[in-house]
Amino acid sequence: MIILAGFLNLGFQVLPMDDLRELYQEVILDHNQNPQNFGRLESHTHSGDGYNPLCGDKLSLTLEVENGEVKDIRFDGSGCAISKASASIMTTVIKGKTVSEAESLFDSFRELVTTGKSNRNNLGKLVVMAGVHKYPVRVKCATLAWHTLKNCLSGSSEVAKTE
Ligand code: ZN
Repeated sequence: MIILAGFLNLGFQVLPMDDLRELYQEVILDHNQNPQNFGRLESHTHSGDGYNPLCGDKLSLTLEVENGEVKDIRFDGSGCAISKASASIMTTVIKGKTVSEAESLFDSFRELVTTGKSNRNNLGKLVVMAGVHKYPVRVKCATLAWHTLKNCLSGSSEVAKTE
């Protein structure tokens, strides 16, 4: 119960406890409480912001891309548990990947969180987010970091929006 106090920002969607347990798997809770790669890279080649108006999640990414490979990545911002955990997990998965691998992962991840499964086998630890597909509002929270990443990598200076 102490752990549950860590994600009071549930937006306007009230979920029964069983659903909460399913959605907020331990890995997600852990990334929410101890986000990986949190902060900003002083030296970076790409940066961008994302905003999910439905939930109020805000996110900034900084990336160091060299020879088509993501050498380093950081995120910061404020948002619900799902948006924060998803951004944290994304940074751990993206680091060391090429830009085209990152784009392919985004497609797999979007398929996973909208349908609950993916036939691609490149998801790795991202599969913990599969339960999100049952909560359409949460899909936007989960994909915010990825939309922002895509914008960053394409060199767009616009704020990435989930709407
Ligand atoms: Zn959210």
